[in-house]
This record gives sequence, structure tokens and C-alpha cells, in this order.
Amino acid sequence: MPLLLCTDLDRTLLPNGPQTESPGARAALWEWVRRTGSRLAFVSGRRLALHLEAVAEYHLPMPDHLIADVGATIYDRGPDGEWAPNAGWHQILAKSWQGREWQDVLPLVSDLDELELQEESEQAAHKLSFNVPDLRSRERVLTNVRKRLNEAFIKADLIWSVDETVPTGLLDVMAKGATKLDAVRWLVQNTGTAPDRVLYAGDSGNDIPVLASELPAVLVANATDEVRAEALHLSLRNGHPEKLYLAKGILSGMNGYYAAGILEGIAHFFPDASGESLE
Ligand SMILES: [Mg+2]
Repeated sequence: MPLLLCTDLDRTLLPNGPQTESPGARAALWEWVRRTGSRLAFVSGRRLALHLEAVAEYHLPMPDHLIADVGATIYDRGPDGEWAPNAGWHQILAKSWQGREWQDVLPLVSDLDELELQEESEQAAHKLSFNVPDLRSRERVLTNVRKRLNEAFIKADLIWSVDETVPTGLLDVMAKGATKLDAVRWLVQNTGTAPDRVLYAGDSGNDIPVLASELPAVLVANATDEVRAEALHLSLRNGHPEKLYLAKGILSGMNGYYAAGILEGIAHFFPDASGESLE
């Protein structure tokens, strides 16, 4: 039976972390997708162009669906192969922001000294992205931004993360209801997929709400201990820890990192579809 496989890209499907990918893991995953006729959705913080770049660079099959901008945009692939933003999803978020888009929200916070607007290409209709070079200003920034949005009656989720390579803080101001979990749930519903025929795979902070949700999900083994602990904690609190599988590297001698972790998740939740069993 086919599944809807929803996967994060960086350091989940793409082996671009410090750990080494098991040889043949990605090829085995594509073979499984092809054999079962499963559908594929990529779910990441990347914008559309960078999704397509990843497809080319890592020789990935073209997915059936794209959830980009950490959930703020869902793209459908037309019969001509062209990608177009899903109008239904756009409408839901437009309602959430009462017709405003990122350019309309920006003036509310643009005078805050700590915020540096990222390039225009990084912005999406319902997502506003900033760098916050001074990591120590985190609490002050979040409080100030939250206050400004509240005063304007704009409902938003503030997503804070850190780019360790620079280092700099990153702040995404997202329309309320635009997270990865909201977008994945919407996709499941709107593709008529039974919730128990879905597998989500992820590795880091913005994946945790989906990993801890009612949908079957796998955390790849290259995730940090902090993410493992938080995902486990939240899935218990949400009342369905049985829907979260932590990849361990126990499938056919593979290490459980990246695609090997996804295969392990398939074998755990869908042993008939997998053709492999976890011994
Ligand atoms: Mg990731």
C-alpha cells in the first residue's frame, strides 16, 4: 500500500551534516518509493528555488508536493511540471493575517535596532525573516516584536533559531497556523490521505511539533540528544508517544542517519510496505 512520505530536507533526507550517510541508503529509499507507488512531499525552510537546487544537487526524485518556507507556502506541481502556490493554503494564511503580506507587517517592527531584514528572496507572503546578530538580545527582541504585533492585532508565531556557523540569531515571523505541522496536516487532509498512511521524517527544532503529533513520525539518528529529548517529551505530553520512532541504526546494518533513518521508520511503522523487518 502506498504511503505519503513527508520529509524534511537538510540533515534529514540530505546528508549534509557531520555524520556519514550509509552507502546505498538514498537509492534504497527511492527504490521503495517507486515499488510502493508512494507519494513524496518535501517539507523544509527552503524557498522553492532552493528546493529545486537540492533536487538537482542530490539527484532526488521530483516530489509530488512541496511545503516551503517552514510551512508558509505549499506548492503543487501542475501537469506541465510547473510549481504554483496552492491557492487554498494561501487563502487560509491570508485570512490569518487579514489580507496583509510580509511587506505590510514589516513597518510595524522595522525600527527595532536588533533586527536585520534578510534578503527579499528569503521573504514569503506570510513569513517575514530577520537576522538578529546580537544573540543576547533574544528575549528583548521577542518581547518587542510580540508587543508590536499584538498592538496591531496580528496573530503570528515567532520562530527563533540560531545559525551556529556565523553565529547569528534568526527570527521568522509566521502567520499563525503556518507551521510545518499545520501545513502537513492540511496536505494530509487535502490529498485524502488516511492519517495512518503518512510518515513524517525530521531532525531538528522546527520538526519537533510534527514529530510529536498524532502522525506517524521518525526522528533520524543523526539528530542531537537535545532534539531527541524534546521530541520524546512533547510526544508523551501530547498523548501519543507510540507515533514517534527514534531511529537507532538497527536496519540491515545501516547507521540510521539521514535516509537510513527514514527507511528504519518505514520498517517500524509499515513492516508490510517495507519488505524489511527490524530485528
Ligand atoms: Mg533539517
